[in-house]
Amino acid sequence: MSMQERLNSIEQEIEHACEKVGRNRNSVHIVAVTKYVSVETTKQTLDHGLTHIGENRAEGAIEKWNALHDRGIWHFIGSLQTRKVKQIIGKFAYLHSLDRLSLAEEVDKRLEPGEIMKCFVQVNVSGEESKAGITPEELHSFIRQLSQYKGIQVVGLMTMAPFYEAPESTRPVFKKLRELRDEVQVLQLEHAPCTELSMGMSNDYLVAVEEGATFIRLGSALVGRE
Ligand SMILES: *Cc1c(COP(=O)(O)O)cnc(C)c1O
Repeated sequence: MSMQERLNSIEQEIEHACEKVGRNRNSVHIVAVTKYVSVETTKQTLDHGLTHIGENRAEGAIEKWNALHDRGIWHFIGSLQTRKVKQIIGKFAYLHSLDRLSLAEEVDKRLEPGEIMKCFVQVNVSGEESKAGITPEELHSFIRQLSQYKGIQVVGLMTMAPFYEAPESTRPVFKKLRELRDEVQVLQLEHAPCTELSMGMSNDYLVAVEEGATFIRLGSALVGRE
């Protein structure tokens, strides 16, 4: 299948999932995850009208950013070592993996005065040991503490669901993230509007859309692998 065919079928399925639960299709943004593909394929992805580009490693991302940055909105979605923060500052508009105060501190320190980084706080909803993220119990206190970093804006929450053969099994994880998002939203914290939900990947994005995802992160099913 070509990328256009994959995109068409994904689009139809997203529209269908939105209809099913009464959501507006425009409230769901696709982050095209280009980590498995070349600069050339990333360029094709942009040519297909996808503007949100997701990368999970600084090394792979910088080459693509250098070649194509004036065309996309760049999302850093992988875990980020503190010493690599300086490589992505000024390039990526969104950070999906904020999971510790030391990372927030470094991001804030590296930003230009007045500049902000839109961040998703990564939550380990499933409790799997292999997954990054703070626990649901720590979330409120963590988000409150982020207010000391003026450059950090908490736009929403992010999670990675466990991989299940049956995507339906991920539903409780996504539902829980939505509830956590709603709880933070009602706090009305100035630095944490927390309106967005980054959840859903190739295997489970339709369940995520049904549960309220506003950013789905699609690699293999959309962009493919090389
Ligand atoms: C790789 C990756 C994705 C996309 O994975 P696919 O299953 O290929 O869609 C999404 N989110 C994160 C954090 C990733 O590292």
